Amino acid sequence: MSEDCIFCSIVAGDIPGRIVDENDDAIAFLDANPMAPGHTLVVPKAHHVRVADMSAEESRALFDLVHELAPRIEDAVDADAHTIAVNDGPDAGQEVPHVHVHVVPRFADDGGGP
Ligand code: 5GP
Ligand code: ZN
Repeated sequence: MSEDCIFCSIVAGDIPGRIVDENDDAIAFLDANPMAPGHTLVVPKAHHVRVADMSAEESRALFDLVHELAPRIEDAVDADAHTIAVNDGPDAGQEVPHVHVHVVPRFADDGGGP
């Protein structure tokens, strides 16, 4: 855990997060500023800044949770598809320095994605 990391604080339960699901190494919660209803972030429980910093096991656990959740989220908000994306590094638009996978529900008429 990194003391000053907002996502570590959510993982630790120190600040509120709307938790969607979790497994041993990853947890999913709703994005505070959603691009669409149901926009979910899936993060490793351990503090890692970049995708390549995770172990292979953590990386698998992360995508296992994405894989399990994406169709459930799609059903829950009656979406037609979803964009699954990682901004990996500040120059790619990563604002929170703790790995997170965006699962963004998409709709046939939403006019283009993130
Ligand atoms: P990035 O630009 O790093 O790929 O995305 C960061 C995401 O984290 C943004 O979609 C933003 O809305 C979300 N976010 C930032 N701070 C918080 C927070 O405190 N709680 C939650 N749930 N999401 C946050
Ligand atoms: Zn962290």
